[in-house]
Amino acid sequence: MHWQELQQQLKYALENSRFYQDVFKKQALYLEAMSSYKDFRKIPVTTKEQLQQQNCDFIAVPQEEIIDHVTTSGTLGKPVSFYLNEHDLNRLAMNEAASFKLAGITKLDKVLITTTLDRRFMAGMAYFLGLRKLGAGAIRTGGGLPALQWESVFRFKPTYIIAVPSFLLKLIQYAQENGIDYQNCSIQAAICIGEPLRTSDFKLNSLGKKISSLWDIKLFSTYASTEMATAFTECEHHQGNHVQEDLIYTEILDQDGNHVAEGEVGELVVTPLKVKTMPLIRFATGDMLTYTDQTCACGRNGRRLGSVIGRRQQKIKLKGVSLYPQHIIEILNEFNGLQNFIIEVSLDQIGGDTLQILIPESFSELDVLKKHLKAGLNVTPEIISKDSKELQQLKFPAGSRKPKIFYDLR
Ligand SMILES: [Zn+2]
Repeated sequence: MHWQELQQQLKYALENSRFYQDVFKKQALYLEAMSSYKDFRKIPVTTKEQLQQQNCDFIAVPQEEIIDHVTTSGTLGKPVSFYLNEHDLNRLAMNEAASFKLAGITKLDKVLITTTLDRRFMAGMAYFLGLRKLGAGAIRTGGGLPALQWESVFRFKPTYIIAVPSFLLKLIQYAQENGIDYQNCSIQAAICIGEPLRTSDFKLNSLGKKISSLWDIKLFSTYASTEMATAFTECEHHQGNHVQEDLIYTEILDQDGNHVAEGEVGELVVTPLKVKTMPLIRFATGDMLTYTDQTCACGRNGRRLGSVIGRRQQKIKLKGVSLYPQHIIEILNEFNGLQNFIIEVSLDQIGGDTLQILIPESFSELDVLKKHLKAGLNVTPEIISKDSKELQQLKFPAGSRKPKIFYDLR
């Protein structure tokens, strides 16, 4: 069943996308010879660079069919243009509705959307469409504006909130400072996007624990990207993000392109199914994660993905130890009393990686922090004191939709 859908998407891409026609021509591949997953794996992966440089070659529908024009977040490199037609918007709605169902949302719920619906982003629009499909209520407050968020909570009494986890912390802080009884408001659960909430073994990470300790609501993580046009969401058992296999085919690959075993870290490579405007075949997301194919406690079969621990390009090699940014962020978040930090990776004179942690000047427990880092990472990075204002500016760069803690200067 699944293979047929994959084959169908491949056929569609080859009939309509100049990019994939060229790939098949150059590699001397033939659709007729694609009769198994093994054959499918002969197709080279599509990279972000190709998507950027040959953007128009990916468009597989007439220009007049395009309804929505969006860009990727551009976490690494420049934002890439993306397009959707009527069919793609419906597909997005279906995916989000199913995602929300996993997190327990029904048509009886009201949901506060605190992520932006504009600024060329796909996510906010997808949430709205998904809620509409479910028949649930949406309150579109968008990003920032904690006063408006709380006013909306007490005005409309939403049961769910969609938010970036660090924004939840800001909301809690604002409520505490302004005497808002947030513990007794209508919100029962949060759908968290943009930052991981759990470690690779599905336990709450330090950010998740911090939110949980301050606010007694359920936390669901969801993971998505513009290129994938698909969201992966946790069920009530919080044991990884469920893959909607009728909408996307996933592969987790090592650096040589071989499939990794369950529990091992690899790069997520996706083929979104039923996409019409910009079909992607074996798109290499750069996201490093683990997976499991075991049946979930909720009874659903199919693949579940662990939290993203970093990007492929972000791998740091330090004295023989391989690290990803999320490892370092976790270790630093666990350290009580360190509110703010920036991680910087650069190249030393002989081309090796160097790791620097920027911390506020006011921080005094330097020796304890060094020991904590050594214990958690097996290496000791350089620690540099910075003005708190400067750190704050680095962490919240203008125009970014989430905090930036990791700077890759290599
Ligand atoms: Zn489940």
